[in-house]
Amino acid sequence: MNGLPPAEPIKLEGFGEQNLYQRREKIFTRHIGGRFQKLRLYSGWPFLLAYFALPWLTWDDRQAILFDLPARQFHLFGLTLWPQDLWLLGWLLMIGAFGLFTVTSLVGRLWCGYTCPQTVWTAIFMWVEQITEGERHQRIRLDALPFGWNRKFWNKLKRRSSKHLLWLGWAAFTALTFVGYFTPIREMSQQLLSANLAAIDGWTYFWIAFFTAATYINAGWMREQVCIYMCPYARFQSAMIDKDTLIVSYDPKRGEPRGSRQRKADQNNLGDCINCRLCVQVCPTGIDIRDGLQYQCIGCAHCIDACNQVMDKMDYPRDLISYTTENRLAGRTTRWLRPKSVGYGVICLLLVGAFGWALSQRSTFAFDILRERGTLWHQTADGAVRNDYQLKLMNKAQQHQEFVVSVLNPNANLISARQVELDGGTLRNIDMQIKWHNPPAPNTALDIQVCTTDKARCRVETTRFLSPGATP
Ligand code: SF4
Ligand code: SF4
Repeated sequence: MNGLPPAEPIKLEGFGEQNLYQRREKIFTRHIGGRFQKLRLYSGWPFLLAYFALPWLTWDDRQAILFDLPARQFHLFGLTLWPQDLWLLGWLLMIGAFGLFTVTSLVGRLWCGYTCPQTVWTAIFMWVEQITEGERHQRIRLDALPFGWNRKFWNKLKRRSSKHLLWLGWAAFTALTFVGYFTPIREMSQQLLSANLAAIDGWTYFWIAFFTAATYINAGWMREQVCIYMCPYARFQSAMIDKDTLIVSYDPKRGEPRGSRQRKADQNNLGDCINCRLCVQVCPTGIDIRDGLQYQCIGCAHCIDACNQVMDKMDYPRDLISYTTENRLAGRTTRWLRPKSVGYGVICLLLVGAFGWALSQRSTFAFDILRERGTLWHQTADGAVRNDYQLKLMNKAQQHQEFVVSVLNPNANLISARQVELDGGTLRNIDMQIKWHNPPAPNTALDIQVCTTDKARCRVETTRFLSPGATP
């Protein structure tokens, strides 16, 4: 007791009465098979396999996908991105966002129900729970079992421990793979397998532990709460869906008035819903779809498969709960092509086109010119003025490249090396001296050009040439 009066329940429009401090009610989902669950399995597996397999692929003798943060290089198969190219990653995120907007406006939350990592990992954790603790009714019984030194309690302890051990194992495997996108995964695994633990740095251990804990908590404990309270997508999807968007919906015209009855019994003016609540028992977010469209619904179709099985047993037509649209439910025609979805799709395609173009135009090298510290200029014996620089040249390609350095100002001469070679993905600081006969006006603009030897790509950077009387 904290001395305060008990919190008053708050009425929220459309959500019934809720106490904001109420305990979370445990959800014991019932396992269900069916057409859509097969589809979810077949759509989830390729993503799962891709996630675990991709960091093991090699490309040109190195890891095909590696976000090498210490070296500040992101390798994506034949493409290496440097910090200067990060805007391309931002672009990719924009393409992903508009792709998601397009999909959401057309088919609602199919992404959430079928391929979102939270859904896929939660489904795996629920499957583990089912094989260790049994079906729904067994889990409810197990959960209610009080503490005591008896055989039943030991059985509960055994089942619970195996579940948590398997959860932790899978979470650690997930975390190791995730860290393997940032640290060479083959080396890391060899060091772990050969128990050469000292060779792995502390941060790697920290991130493995962090992602293990995050996976274990999110998919094992929090589950639907991540979708309901933490995922921003659930909140802004309402801006993208309309009466023509595909949603999971119960048909109240057909189902109501609901009422229980025996198989083959007379319907007695009741609707097709026999109020068996199977659709509620299989729902991973614990909602009753018969109450109408709710933001907690992730479109997973468990309720559709469950209800279809009931309809089959009752010899009623299927699809009392189905993927449909609000317009179709109201007897109107569904328009798939609407300005909103076409607009999102067109923006997405334009972004993809622009991204492809920007990628093809991306230079395979970059350079900076830095002035040498110390003396601003040197007066040479022949009366000319010399300035010293550092050329910071970066070969962004994955192959060895040769470059030609030149000065574009007519009276300036490059007296240091003109030809420079660099291995793929390396950066080099090169001393560069430029001499100018008949010294120019103070602080003259100086154009330095670097080209690949085949002159296919050239870049020009401008710096300043200092001479007597010039201000730095
Ligand atoms: S599963 Fe179908 S019949 Fe059973 S309660 Fe849900 S909607 Fe009604
Ligand atoms: S209402 Fe149906 S589709 Fe929505 S989350 Fe629950 S089971 Fe999945």
